[in-house]
Amino acid sequence: MDYLPLFLDLNDRPCLVVGGGEVAARKLELLLAAGARIEIVAPVLGAHTRRLVDDHGIPVQSRVFAASDLDGRVLVIAATDDPAVNRQVFELGTARNMLVNSVDQPAISNVIFPAIVDRSPVIVAVSTGGRSPTLARTVRGWLEARLPARLGALADFIGARRRAVQQALPDVPARQRLWEAFLRGPGAEQVYRGDVDAAAVAFDALLGGAARASADGVERRPDQGQGTVALIGAGPGDPELLTLKALRLLQSADVVLYDNLVDRRILDYARRDAERVYVGKQRSDHGVGQDGIHRLLVEHARAGQSVVRLKGGDPYIFGRGGEEVEALAEAGLDCVVVPGITAALGAASYAGIPLTHRELAQSVRFVTGHRAEDRVNLDWPELAKPGQTLVIYMGRGGLAEILARLVEHGMRPDMPAALVANATLEDQRVVQGTVSDLAERVVAAGVTGPTITLVGEVVGLRRPG
Ligand code: SAH
Repeated sequence: MDYLPLFLDLNDRPCLVVGGGEVAARKLELLLAAGARIEIVAPVLGAHTRRLVDDHGIPVQSRVFAASDLDGRVLVIAATDDPAVNRQVFELGTARNMLVNSVDQPAISNVIFPAIVDRSPVIVAVSTGGRSPTLARTVRGWLEARLPARLGALADFIGARRRAVQQALPDVPARQRLWEAFLRGPGAEQVYRGDVDAAAVAFDALLGGAARASADGVERRPDQGQGTVALIGAGPGDPELLTLKALRLLQSADVVLYDNLVDRRILDYARRDAERVYVGKQRSDHGVGQDGIHRLLVEHARAGQSVVRLKGGDPYIFGRGGEEVEALAEAGLDCVVVPGITAALGAASYAGIPLTHRELAQSVRFVTGHRAEDRVNLDWPELAKPGQTLVIYMGRGGLAEILARLVEHGMRPDMPAALVANATLEDQRVVQGTVSDLAERVVAAGVTGPTITLVGEVVGLRRPG
């Protein structure tokens, strides 16, 4: 190990920054965040440093560095653009056993700054031992995407309860088991979504159970009762359209339930050892069915697992997500719903069709064209009105019938319309025409895969590309 990582308490400790340019300003911001008592020595200040000095009342010596500036400092930062000055600061400071950092010059530093992910009070620091700041920043980027935005709130939640847990559970392993159970259960996700009250209820129940077991002298895992369920919108296909939250939950899932509309590459984001359960329907069979899905979700969650149910597009748009949430609630299980990019949005962007337009379309309607009792029942006079865009979620089956109905109810026969198959995927295809000829064109084009149809003046603005 080239460097020992330590977290330094600089609150109200005297620190010196030598230099007043942009490089110095960036370090000043960090020192300010850590509450350091800062002084600057620099003949001139750049605009950024000047602003920080004014905003925070930082004392400045407007001259070149002198050895006596080091007196009484805990940490010194050499941030001038003159390597000779930085070296002088380093040598004098090291001779006095001080901590000295020369910005981006590890050879003349005895402490170096890591790249950090700041979810205060949780801080993750990354160092490459000064070999590559770019690599350190890249690793930081990976972590940024992985760590919940409200991780700090979780640390605060736990910190506020440590004393109560110490009092209730004298036994250290029992305390560890409690915290592990809490972090595995739904409480953490509740804190992340800002529902601290729900998390507090979950925590109190866990602690109560653990305290009773401890009083009875029983050594057992805290009665975790339940795992977590996340209903995740996986987007229309392109894996890059997942949200950061979806990715994070997927990466920590024990079980992933998925169906036809979910691209297999998205499943690859789950842990290698996560169980993957297909719950989709093929045309010939009905798969496990909606009730079967509910049963599986409840079973896995009750077994204490973290369960992810991946749904194509958005869970709450023609996705029966509401029914799944209801079934979980009936079983007394909590569930997070993570929105996804719905097929209409994916198809519109990737096909180059704006959904609204100041003059042409002031509203958008998402309709499903699935048949009930062999007919499509929609409010045709409403749908045929001008000034709006229709997005029809359905296969190719009823398309001709739907478009004919629109014309029957007054839509102009040459209204532009386009069908997008396999939207957002490499094999996306767009068939464009009018409400009068689109159905024929689609048959002639012989498209396969899921399809969605857009109808309205905006389709005429299409910019393929
Ligand atoms: N919850 C999903 C919709 C499920 S209904 C969402 O928000 O997107 C299923 C219908 O969605 C399909 O019949 C098809 O019309 C549409 N669909 C889903 N993914 C699609 C894709 N990649 N390309 C085209 N249509 C898609």
